[in-house]
Amino acid sequence: ANEVRSQAITEVLNRPAAGTEEITPLCDTWATDVFNLAKMEEALSKNAFKAVKKTVQTGEPLDPATADIVAAAMKDWAMSKGAKFFSHVFFPLTNITAEKHDGFIITNGDGHAITEFTGSLLIKGEPDGSSFPNGSLRMTNAARGYTAWDPTSPAYIKRTANGATLMIPSVFMSWTGESLDKKIPLLRSNAAMDAAARRVLTLMGETDIAPLNASCGPEQEYFLVDEHLATRRPDLLLAGRTLFGAPPAKGQEFDDHYFGAIPERVQNFMQDVEDKLYRLGIPAKTHHNEVAPGQFEIAPYHETANIAADHQQIVMTTLKATAAEHGFLCLLHEKPFAGLNGSGKHVNWSVGNETQGNLLDPGTSPEHNLNFLLFCGAVIRGVHKFGPLLRAVIATASNDHRLGANEAPPAILSVYLGDQLEAVFENIKNGKISVSSDGGEMDLGLSQILNFKRDPGDRNRTSPFAFTGNRFEFRAVGSSQSVSGPLVAMNTMLAESLNWIADQLEVQLGQGKTHAEAVAVVLKELMEVHGSAVFGGDGYSSEWHEAAVAERGLRNLPTSADALPVFTEPDVVELFESTGVLSAVELNSRYEVYSEQYINSIAVEAKLVIDLAKTVIYPAALKYASELATTFTAVESLGASFDATQVKVIAENANLLLATVGELSAELERHDFADTKAHMEHCATVIRPLMEKARGYADTLETEVDDAAWPLPKYRELLFIK
Ligand code: ADP
Ligand code: MG
Repeated sequence: ANEVRSQAITEVLNRPAAGTEEITPLCDTWATDVFNLAKMEEALSKNAFKAVKKTVQTGEPLDPATADIVAAAMKDWAMSKGAKFFSHVFFPLTNITAEKHDGFIITNGDGHAITEFTGSLLIKGEPDGSSFPNGSLRMTNAARGYTAWDPTSPAYIKRTANGATLMIPSVFMSWTGESLDKKIPLLRSNAAMDAAARRVLTLMGETDIAPLNASCGPEQEYFLVDEHLATRRPDLLLAGRTLFGAPPAKGQEFDDHYFGAIPERVQNFMQDVEDKLYRLGIPAKTHHNEVAPGQFEIAPYHETANIAADHQQIVMTTLKATAAEHGFLCLLHEKPFAGLNGSGKHVNWSVGNETQGNLLDPGTSPEHNLNFLLFCGAVIRGVHKFGPLLRAVIATASNDHRLGANEAPPAILSVYLGDQLEAVFENIKNGKISVSSDGGEMDLGLSQILNFKRDPGDRNRTSPFAFTGNRFEFRAVGSSQSVSGPLVAMNTMLAESLNWIADQLEVQLGQGKTHAEAVAVVLKELMEVHGSAVFGGDGYSSEWHEAAVAERGLRNLPTSADALPVFTEPDVVELFESTGVLSAVELNSRYEVYSEQYINSIAVEAKLVIDLAKTVIYPAALKYASELATTFTAVESLGASFDATQVKVIAENANLLLATVGELSAELERHDFADTKAHMEHCATVIRPLMEKARGYADTLETEVDDAAWPLPKYRELLFIK
């Protein structure tokens, strides 16, 4: 290897071994850094606690006097943990977690430092929002964004090596009250789903109905690369993925990484991550190797969607920060390495409450199965009506590399039910169910569902949206994404479908039908119109890609340039407006922000391709070619000769590389686009293919140029050195 690379490798090999730390039992660390209801109960008077508990459970605003009491208790608790600062944490449209820190400290006239934290500081913060993307929601001269405490998600302590900060989960909105964040729509979508589900359950004869919540269990995949190697790859540092790199001799063909023994260094890292998460009350539950070398997964136990979404953001930041402490770069990018599996984030999702339980669980009695069938039917209808929206909420420049790439779900949204449940819905659709005329006996395939086997082997890995026994698993979500967007889309489409179902049930029940009969009629109609979204076959196959579009009328939206404009389509605007989740203006701002992010991230990558091609790869090729030329001339003077084929291949590819990045530079200069969509299409159909073309020449050079002259760490080094 060349000098830079061998130095990096030496540094990795000389890493000091991890010290042995004392292992703390879970009971000593679990949720110690969270100001949850239990801690509030200890710290507050009975009345104050009662008020705050109500707020936590219902989201109702807290009266100012109680807010002051809660703020004081929260401050005391945080300061006893060493916190000197507090921060409202919020979730702008960038998928990141944003924080602005303020000290508790103020000084009084005689120079003494005292601390202060009032209810109004707790409830409302005012970061200057001007540099957060808002899609023209606020004019920059009126750049006031407010953060406001979300009491349904507990405050917690963020620790660094020598400090601690009280973190207050918050919403982020404009001064006109429009959502600039990912949390507000999530809360609203849950409320919409709750209202619609309540209607259906009431019609189905339920009388005691506790608040309904969506639940979410996200599985996070990621890669780890040693920092000594990673820091020598500008593309990994700036773009989070390799823009160049020839395939290594060995990849993932032996399937020897998946569920293999976890390397000790990685396991130390994982346990460190989990210890930090446990302190924050985040129930990390599984960790294992993933398919590609250097790829791993962490999955916490599922929680209420709003909390799970906040926790997921903490998981991502903790993975990154802890990786740095362990000498790794953690890559959350969807496709860091060409030719190897990318990373996804399976979003497991269900809805339920304390009285009716999980409504996507078939349960053990036929009455509950009727509810189950209705909710499941509502999901099928939602995926069919709003499949393009589900595609749009996972549309990013990075996730486009994964979707439809034969290792990840296709960009066509269909729903997988498993053989048994698919047969039940098929029978309902074909009227193959017995309903006796007196409204008594009937079989909705209930006996089949009662015997439902939750067989984990019964999985269709090729489906983007799969029923997995008691939940749906949205498998096409990208690893670097916030889970909020997908959750909002799922909750909202479910709300809309449940409202439709409630309307239909009202009609049927009004005609004197029994619950079972009414359900049969409604679901039959639902399946006749929307059943084409159900697909149990191979989602990777080219036959499906054709049939889905030609025969079933589903839409294939391969790139973000195709998918993001869905946010502006009338039925989607209508969906969000009618459910009260996003106004047309808020929705449009999302279209603008996500489009801009797509365009920007491709522009950054393209500039990097040009830079690396011209200043790193081309010079290496040139240098090696000139060494060969010198040697050849010298050898010729001795009367012998070398075959010059290789030097010709090098020259040819180096020239083509330079010409291609020249073309790329020219295309990047273009700004004469009719609209954002046209600009995105240019990125997808011109910029990206040119980047790929340049990569092809560069990767050929990597396989021709002397290893000792190749400056960028190679795939084999990035993937296999731990
Ligand atoms: P697999 O890899 O087999 O899909 P994992 O155990 O890695 O399964 O992850 C499954 C995830 O689904 C976990 O986060 C789990 O808590 C979550 N989950 C289980 N049941 C539900 C449910 N009813 N609603 C939402 N999430 C659930
Ligand atoms: Mg899964």
